[in-house]
Amino acid sequence: MHLRIFVHRIPRLSLSKTFHGRRAAAPPARPQAPPPRRRLRPPPTLPPPLPPAAVAAAAAGTATLADLEKLQVLGHGSGGTVYKVRHRRTSAIYALKLIHGDCDPTVRRQVLREMDILRRTDSPFVVKCHAIIPQASGDTAFVLEFMDAGTLTSIPIASESALSRITRQVLHGLSYLHSHKIVHRDIKPSNLLVNSRMEVKIADFGVSKVMCRTLDPCDSYVGTCAYMSPERFDPDRYGGRYDGYAGDVWSLGLTLVELWVGHFPYLVDGERPDWASLMCKICFGDPPSLPDGASDDFRDFVACCLQKDSNKRWTVDQLLAHPFVSRDRW
Ligand code: ATP
Ligand code: MG
Repeated sequence: MHLRIFVHRIPRLSLSKTFHGRRAAAPPARPQAPPPRRRLRPPPTLPPPLPPAAVAAAAAGTATLADLEKLQVLGHGSGGTVYKVRHRRTSAIYALKLIHGDCDPTVRRQVLREMDILRRTDSPFVVKCHAIIPQASGDTAFVLEFMDAGTLTSIPIASESALSRITRQVLHGLSYLHSHKIVHRDIKPSNLLVNSRMEVKIADFGVSKVMCRTLDPCDSYVGTCAYMSPERFDPDRYGGRYDGYAGDVWSLGLTLVELWVGHFPYLVDGERPDWASLMCKICFGDPPSLPDGASDDFRDFVACCLQKDSNKRWTVDQLLAHPFVSRDRW
């Protein structure tokens, strides 16, 4: 086996403090026969970038950093620091993601990629970027929609139906991205943001990629290693090639298990990550499954996401039709 690993990030496993109530023992209906696991191809053309006027309108009044008063640090990521800010004139609240210009060339490339993708996206399931403000210093500032409830790492998951609602929104976000040929490549709880209306939106496009052709393999191994799919390490064994769309689905499956059990699924609670053994577990071990108490629908949904063979993994559009996320469940 040849393990091809060129990662630009070390594993940073969030040990989220989520908890949940077990679902009452209502007899779960077996999901209907799954749709054929046929890969649905995204449409062939790239959407045009947002016209500059639209960006300017969205960014009205946020043209310079001096207009924004920093209120608090929201968090630090590998790409930079995120602040809660208030626009001095309008009092509007935003999140300001500041990436330092003196970062290494890899991070610089990530910034450019993130700018490119944020300019293209416009979906209620993707965090909105109101403005991108390059600085003379080389820093880049992203003025983002402020998600006032933080990330999914800090939201208690009270029930399966709550998680089903969250999952459905993430699927809509991924469906939007994939239909625009954007692979996120870093789906994990800390990149899924929530507001007080319990709207969940996908954030952080630092390592995302716009696919040039439908069959374009995702050739660079970037993202948070722990959430990477087996075929990303060993494409020959698990599907023949790395398919970024399927990789996002794997990461979603791991994210859901993590949110449900309260810790990263490949490690026992509190275990320190060891990259080599983690990679062996992902490639050679059984995929994580849910503990007793989870419904059959939920269990099946996770299994559809965590198929080790990427050809058998469901697509986002297929998952949107799965009983676990169907509307009548809510
Ligand atoms: P990584 O760099 O591995 O992606 P990360 O996701 O934690 O780690 P960032 O995406 O840079 O790093 O974000 C840092 C933190 O800032 C997030 O975890 C979140 O708490 C907060 N944050 C980011 N964007 C927003 C936003 N639009 N609204 C509110 N909080 C945000
Ligand atoms: Mg992030």
